[in-house]
Amino acid sequence: MFDFLVIGGGIAGVSAAARLSELGRVHLVEAEDNLAYHASGRSAAMYEENYGAPAVCALNKASRHHHETAYGGVLSPRGILLLANPGQEDSFADDISTFGMTEITPSEARGMVPILQEGITRAGFHGAAQDLDTDKLVQGFLSDLKKQGGTVQTRAQVRAIDRIKTGWRVTAGGQDICAHTVVNAAGAWADQIAKMAGIPPIGLTPLRRSVARIAAPGGHNVAPWPMMFGPGEAWYAKPDAGALIVSPANETPSAPMDAWAEEMELAEGLALYQDYVTEPVTKPISSWAGLRTFAPDRNLVLGPASQDPSFIWCAGQGGYGFQTAPAASQLVADLIAGRPSDIDTQSRAALHPARFA
Ligand SMILES: Cc1cc2nc3c(=O)[nH]c(=O)nc-3n(C[C@H](O)[C@H](O)[C@H](O)COP(=O)(O)OP(=O)(O)OC[C@H]3O[C@@H](n4cnc5c(N)ncnc54)[C@H](O)[C@@H]3O)c2cc1C
Repeated sequence: MFDFLVIGGGIAGVSAAARLSELGRVHLVEAEDNLAYHASGRSAAMYEENYGAPAVCALNKASRHHHETAYGGVLSPRGILLLANPGQEDSFADDISTFGMTEITPSEARGMVPILQEGITRAGFHGAAQDLDTDKLVQGFLSDLKKQGGTVQTRAQVRAIDRIKTGWRVTAGGQDICAHTVVNAAGAWADQIAKMAGIPPIGLTPLRRSVARIAAPGGHNVAPWPMMFGPGEAWYAKPDAGALIVSPANETPSAPMDAWAEEMELAEGLALYQDYVTEPVTKPISSWAGLRTFAPDRNLVLGPASQDPSFIWCAGQGGYGFQTAPAASQLVADLIAGRPSDIDTQSRAALHPARFA
C-alpha cells in the first residue's frame, strides 16, 4: 500500500511525485519505456514569466526562485523579440503590454538578429525571458524523488482504477497497485484516467503544436539570438543547439496520442517566419509535434477532485508545464498536506478543480 500513486511520468508527474515523497511513500507509473516521452520531451524550453492567464503567471513567478537555484539552476539568458510587419500594429501593442516588453527600433532588432527584413515596422524585446533546461529539471525532480524513497515504474500503462475501502487499486504493468491517494498527471490522457476512476472529466483538450528544425540561416551563429515571434503568437523561431526551430504556433485539436507534425503545419510556420527574414528557408533537418493540453479556461487543474479528495488532479499544463512545475507541484503537495501556500487565494481558486464542479 503506497500513500501516493502518481500516474504519468512527464514533468507534471515527476515534479508532483518528488514533492509528495516528503509526505509519504510514492510510486510513479508511466506507460512508455522512458519518462518525459510525450509533451515533456517536445517543448520549446522557455521560461517567460508573463506568458499565460493570471493564475498561470502567479505559478510562473512563484517558480522562478526554484528554477534559478535548484539543481545548479535551470535557466540561461535568451530573451524574446516581438516583430511586426505593416498591418500588425494592434496585435503588436497588445503583446507589448501583455509581456511587459520594451519597444525597440527595427534597426536595434536587426542588431540582435542580422537577417531581419527591412520591412519590419515595430519591434519589442523582453530580456527576462530565459531558456529552461527541461532535461535538467526532470532529472532534478527525479533524483529528489528517489532520494526520498520514491519508486518509478515505466512500461506500466494504467488499465483499470477501482475504489477500495482504503483508497484505490490501480492495474498497471500487469500488477495491482494499491494507494491511499491517486495523482492524475497523465497529460493529454488525464480525462481518460478520471473516467477510469469514476471521476467526472474536466473537458481537457489536447492541442497539437508542430515544430520544424532548420539549419542556421546563412550559416550565422544563431546561439546569441533571442527567440522571435509574430504578434498574437502567430509563429515563433528559436535557436536550438546551433540550428533554428520554427513553429506556426498552431493549436490543432487532437485525440490523446503520440503526436507527429503535419507537413502543412510545418510549411505554414516556415512561410510565416519567411515574411520577416532575408535568408531563404531551407528544408527542415527534422520535425516533431507535441500536445499542449488545456482546461476550458486555460488554467492548470491542481488539487483534490470535489467528488473524492483522494483523487488529485495535476493536469491541464497547456503550454506552461515546465515554467510552472516547481510552484504547481508545491501547491499540489501543500493542498494535500493542508499547509499554507505561497500562491494567492484568487489564483488558488482559479487553479482548483472545484471550479468545474
Ligand atoms: C511544441 C511545444 C512547445 C512547448 N513549449 C513550452 C515552453 O517553452 N515552456 C513550458 O513551460 N512549456 C512548454 N510546453 C508545454 C509543456 O511541454 C507541457 O505543458 C508539459 O510537458 C506537460 O507535462 P505533463 O507531464 O502534463 O504531460 P506529458 O509530458 O504528456 O506526460 C504525461 C504522461 O502520462 C503518461 N500516461 C498517459 N496515460 C497513462 C496511463 N494510462 N498509464 C500510465 N501513464 C500514462 C504518458 O505516457 C505521458 O508520459 C510546450 C509544449 C509543446 C508541445
